[in-house]
Amino acid sequence: MSQLAYRRVLLKLSGEALMGNEDYGIDPLVLNRLAREVIEAQQAGAEIALVIGGGNIFRGAGLAAGGMDRVTGDQMGMLATVINALAMQDALEKLGAKCRVMSAIKINDVCEDYIRRRAVRHMEKGRIAIFAAGTGNPFFTTDSGAALRAIEVGADLLLKATKVDGVYDKDPKKHADAVLFDKLSYDEVIARNLQVMDTAAFALCRDSDLPLRIFDMSQPGVLLRILRGEPIGTLVQGRNAGL
Ligand code: UDP
Repeated sequence: MSQLAYRRVLLKLSGEALMGNEDYGIDPLVLNRLAREVIEAQQAGAEIALVIGGGNIFRGAGLAAGGMDRVTGDQMGMLATVINALAMQDALEKLGAKCRVMSAIKINDVCEDYIRRRAVRHMEKGRIAIFAAGTGNPFFTTDSGAALRAIEVGADLLLKATKVDGVYDKDPKKHADAVLFDKLSYDEVIARNLQVMDTAAFALCRDSDLPLRIFDMSQPGVLLRILRGEPIGTLVQGRNAGL
């Protein structure tokens, strides 16, 4: 078994990460590739949990902007994350992995309820745990769900996969001279007014001193390389991260 720098990690994927080049829904080829990456990391010895967003299907804020009641919209968003979780479970199982979807809202004909001790047990037994329905509450995002669950299950690291390869001092799409940070402290993120996660998620990570790595998952093998300790993307952590 290879040496890993992390024992237990939680990977947050946005719903949009499942879309590939589509405008909506799930691209099976993209789903399959992501599932392979997760299995590769798990087979190297890591305990892995996943949180997948729902933005490829519904977001409550978007539905509310169209006139829908916000709480109903958020409930639809949470159900969208369950759909994505079931799709990922299917992809993982087709590839031979063991997996359990656990939902923050009760829909236990479809998947298990989230119970922290059971979630930890699944991971210890080599099952990939997928935490669906975010926090189970409206007005939150799956970034907050990911931070919360990572802290609850004692993850060593929260991984947030994004379309950009880390945190920059300014928007790299608009500014050619944008600089990528290797490391940031939570205080530096606030002082520089950088957007790495929504405020509630960020506060949870900071207050629990949970290290967070933001990276681009489009390169094959990147997840395993991070788990082996390669400094890919941007690491945000407690004090003295240093610049
Ligand atoms: N959501 C919610 N509470 C949560 C997590 C998610 O109400 O704890 C809803 C919210 O409407 C959100 C949607 O589910 O917009 C999908 O999640 P998110 O926007 O985080 O997905 P992503 O952007 O990661 O694809």
